[in-house]
This record gives sequence, C-alpha cells and structure tokens, in this order.
Amino acid sequence: MTASTVLLQSLAALLGPEGHSTDPDVIAPKLVEWRGRYRGTTPFLAKPRSAQEVSRVVALCAEAGAAITPQGGNTGLVAGQIPNGEILLSLERMQAIRNLSALDDSIIVEAGATLQRVHDAAAGINRRLPLTLASQGSATIGGLISTNAGGVHVMRHGMMREQVLGLEVVLADGQILEGLDTLRKNNTGYDLKQLFIGAEGTLGIITAAALKLAPAVSSKMVAAAGVESPEKALALFHRARRGVDGLCAFELMNRQSIALALKNVPGLREPLRSATPYTVLLEFEQCGSSGLEDGVEALLADALEHGEITDAALARSILQEQALWKLRESLSAGHRTGEPQANHDISVPVSETPAFLAAAEREAQALVPEARIVAFGHMGDGNIHLTVMPPAGAKDFPSEAVLRAMHDLAVSMGGSISAEHGVGVARREELTRFKDPAALRMMRMLKTTLDPKGVLNPRALI
Ligand SMILES: Cc1cc2nc3c(=O)[nH]c(=O)nc-3n(C[C@H](O)[C@H](O)[C@H](O)COP(=O)(O)OP(=O)(O)OC[C@H]3O[C@@H](n4cnc5c(N)ncnc54)[C@H](O)[C@@H]3O)c2cc1C
Repeated sequence: MTASTVLLQSLAALLGPEGHSTDPDVIAPKLVEWRGRYRGTTPFLAKPRSAQEVSRVVALCAEAGAAITPQGGNTGLVAGQIPNGEILLSLERMQAIRNLSALDDSIIVEAGATLQRVHDAAAGINRRLPLTLASQGSATIGGLISTNAGGVHVMRHGMMREQVLGLEVVLADGQILEGLDTLRKNNTGYDLKQLFIGAEGTLGIITAAALKLAPAVSSKMVAAAGVESPEKALALFHRARRGVDGLCAFELMNRQSIALALKNVPGLREPLRSATPYTVLLEFEQCGSSGLEDGVEALLADALEHGEITDAALARSILQEQALWKLRESLSAGHRTGEPQANHDISVPVSETPAFLAAAEREAQALVPEARIVAFGHMGDGNIHLTVMPPAGAKDFPSEAVLRAMHDLAVSMGGSISAEHGVGVARREELTRFKDPAALRMMRMLKTTLDPKGVLNPRALI
C-alpha cells in the first residue's frame, strides 16, 4: 500500500509543523537499524503527541489504504521498526509520566518514554521496574512491550509481559482501546492487553502503559567467575540458585566474545586475572536486611573448592560493579566488526545450554571450517546470543545456511529461534519453518480480524 499526496497533505495538516517531517536529513537516522544491517524508506514521518492524534493518523491511513510502521527507540534487532515505503509513526513526542504511585506500586507512562526515564522516575519513590537491558537509554516502553523484551533480570523478574498491568492502544481502524488500569486482579473475560504484548506493532499502536513497580533494591553484589566449560557454568548456576537467595542475573560470555569487546570498545578491562574459556557474571539482589556479601563470598569459595570455577572477582565498589557490567553490556557493540556474520537469539531449556553450545560449534565449523564462535547471553534463561563469523579474511560465508542450521539445532533441542528479540522482518520466513501450523493459522486469523486492511506493520512478524 502506498501513501497518496492527498493523504500526506491531510496528515501534515493534522499534525502541524512540529508533528511531522518529510526532510530526508531528519528522517535518515530512523531509517537505519542499529547495526546498519537494514535500511528503509518512508515518504512521511508522523510524530503525534497524544493518543487522539495517533488515532486520527491511523484512521486517515486506514481510509486511504496506506500502511504504517510504528517506531520507538529504533533499537530493535529484527528490523520490525524500519519502514519500507510505509508511513513512519514515531512515538518520540509521547513521553509523559501520567501517574506514579508508591501506594499502588505502579506507573502510568506514555509509550515513547525510554526505559531509563521510567527507572529514574521509579527510583524517585524508592521503587523500580525490574527490567534491565543495555539499550535502556534509547529503548522505549512501547517498543519494549511490543517486542516483549527480556534483558538480564528475566530469571528473577520475568520479561516485559510480567511488568504490564494495563495498556492504552490505538487499533487498526483508529479506535482507542482504553485499558490503563493498575488492578492486580481483573477476571472479566479475555485479557486483551496480552494480544499487543510481543505483537511487534502488527495489531495496534501502544500509546501508554500501566506498569507494575517492585521495591527498590537495598543491597546488591556483582561477581565475575572464570569457568572452564558451559557444564561447569551450569553447575555454578544451580549452586548459586540454591546457595544464596537473590540471584537475579547469570550471564555467560565466551572468550571470543570478551576478546572482541576488549579489542573494539575503548575503556574495557579483563574481568579476571586469567583469561578463562568462559566467564560468568553473577548479580544478587536483596530488598531486606543485610548478609548478602557473606553469602556470596561463601558461595564462590564453595564453587572454587568443588572445581566449578577457577577464579572469581567480587565487585567491592560501585565502580568495580559498573566495570563488570560495562564489559557485558559492550559485547554487542564489540561484535560489530563489519565482517560477515550470522547472528542468533536462540533459547533452549537451561539444562541444554552446554549441549547446544558444543553442537553449535561442531555444526558451524562443519559448514565453515575454522569459523569463529562468539557466544554470550542470559544463560540463566537458556538464552544464548550466538554469532558465527568466518575466519579472518575468508571470502565466502554461507550465512543463510549457518542461520538455518543453528535454528534447526535449537529447535531440535526443544528451543526457540527467537528468545527475546522478536521476529520482525528478519525472522519472518524462519518463523514459518518452525511455528506449529495451528498456531500460525491462529496468528493469521487474529491479524486479519484486528487489522483486515493490513495497515499496521504489514511486513513484520506474520
Ligand atoms: C545494545 C543493545 C542491547 C540489547 N539488549 C537486549 C536485551 O538484553 N533484551 C532484549 O529483549 N532486547 C535487547 N535489545 C533489543 C531492543 O532494545 C529491544 O527489542 C527493545 O524492546 C526495542 O525497543 P525500541 O523502543 O527501540 O523499539 P523499536 O526498535 O523502535 O521497535 C521494535 C518493534 O516494536 C514496534 N513498536 C515500537 N513502538 C511501538 C508502539 N508504541 N506500539 C506498537 N509497536 C511498537 C516496532 O514497529 C518494531 O516492530 C538490545 C538492543 C541493543 C541495540
């Protein structure tokens, strides 16, 4: 569906000079994905400032038969936010915090607010939204809900879905679904908000959300531990879970992933004295009284004694803590080397992560001799970000074959081809290879029922 001149004029009149742009220089940064892998086009950038304006934009587009790509912070990694000729609808002017309640442990915030903004607001009332990811300075509440984002604290607090109490959504015909309640219990039929969480903007445009807040953390411990193998990391994971109450992050990084980050991102340091094959970053949190430090020290001493870890470093200051997390959060940036690569965001049952990593290396190297394997991720959730790169200087790289082989492997182990990034445009074809046919049929039925004209993000997901 293409946008006509009449539609563009109507949209411009509706939104005013502040609320739209057709200037290629203004639009350009929104047309390229973070890693530069996907580039798009749009005839018009709409920047509405209220749910009512979003509603009128959608209604006009629906009437004219023009499609819309919603965009938040443009940090998505599967290209669902990059338009290809559609109207680009940015939520950047909708960042207000409509309500913040310590008594209800909740916040009502507009969809264009960044996660960092919500963290700051919640900290002001001694609360927090327990969702943490490296992109939180740019990623928006609307984008996080639409991708059902994960991050480093999922093992304790769940994904974005778990944080949502209510939503305000503009539907494909322009109607506004008003569902911004902060109720913990509301059994009045279908829980419609769930339809829009993880829908990647294909069923509605989220304009505001009511979110659950948790108590602020009173103490925190961060440690790095060197392990010889993913099997040892798994043993450490179970020891840490049963040994100390409050394990909230368990991140695995292989040597290649750390080496690339150290090489390509300035200001990073080796986390341990020796360069171990794998490093685990552990975080523990506590909301009540003290005792955490003793518990974590005892845990690491036990793990050392049992041969699960070969080295460990406990952060003793906020600076040390930040240095460990900075390394972890810089891994994605460190892997942007400009070389060909196949990236995966797979999940398997936690118990299968060692077997998956071993088989992935074997299979990738069978396809690409001497392939470099960069593996890191949220091992506590069984979620591995696996990147396969050819040996330096190699001419050919069968990236599609590698991608498919890794997905086949993950699914054969009971896993998923997209743990937390979503499907977008990048994984759309792969979804049809693996999703249960009945589930695919239901997804298509939902799409055609709620968006019969295909106005909302028609190239993404389904
Ligand atoms: C360095 C880095 C680290 C990351 N780490 C993680 C991680 O640990 N865990 C994780 O899950 N993800 C991670 N991501 C991916 C990304 O940050 C998340 O997918 C995030 O949720 C995207 O939010 P956004 O506001 O940037 O959305 P965008 O990228 O703008 O959009 C993402 C999708 O949501 C749709 N959308 C956006 N806003 C709306 C709206 N208001 N209504 C309807 N649809 C909408 C878009 O159309 C698109 O399909 C990372 C990305 C980077 C660059």
